[in-house]
Amino acid sequence: MSEQTFLCNQCGNQTPLVRKFDNLPDNVEHHYAECQSCGYRSTIFYTNPEIKALMYEQKKTPFLTKKKERLTNEIKKLVDELREKVESEEGKNAEIK
Ligand SMILES: [Zn+2]
Repeated sequence: MSEQTFLCNQCGNQTPLVRKFDNLPDNVEHHYAECQSCGYRSTIFYTNPEIKALMYEQKKTPFLTKKKERLTNEIKKLVDELREKVESEEGKNAEIK
């Protein structure tokens, strides 16, 4: 297995890419890479059961078909919306604290 590294934009070190995920409320999973130098979490994506079901469907669908294209676009849209939703809620919570 080759070791991937990424540049942490928090501490500026090259760090081994350690992918982890947390369970958030509403069945949301937060997938992120954790910096081994400073512990900073860089978000990869958020997912939920709806998105996972679509990803599974997309995987089974042959390449270069309209359906694959439609599913890919739909997944991208849902992932973006979910990220926006989760991050805006995190922002609100941070303000309360
Ligand atoms: Zn770091």
